[in-house]
Amino acid sequence: MTYIPEALRRLVAERAGGRCEYCRLHEDDTFFTHEVDHIYAEKHDGPTAEWNLCVACSDCNRNKGSDICSLDLETGEVVALYQPAATAGVSTFSLPIPAWSSP
Ligand SMILES: [Zn+2]
Repeated sequence: MTYIPEALRRLVAERAGGRCEYCRLHEDDTFFTHEVDHIYAEKHDGPTAEWNLCVACSDCNRNKGSDICSLDLETGEVVALYQPAATAGVSTFSLPIPAWSSP
């Protein structure tokens, strides 16, 4: 596990406002503490930088793992799981429901 400086961890947490940045679950609504996740995993050379970090609930973080794409079940196309700030040029995520998320 990579060390994430406390100031960077705090910046990402404040940006998220207590919510998982993947599914939007608020930390108050779960038994587990949210985690800071590398959007692009370190094994894919994802850096420990604000644009590549997000707050994730334990379910999203566990299910996402180091994946960065999946198959769209309706179209069969390979799609990015998220449009992180790095590619969208904005400080928020677009939020399609993750492929592993069940209502
Ligand atoms: Zn989540």
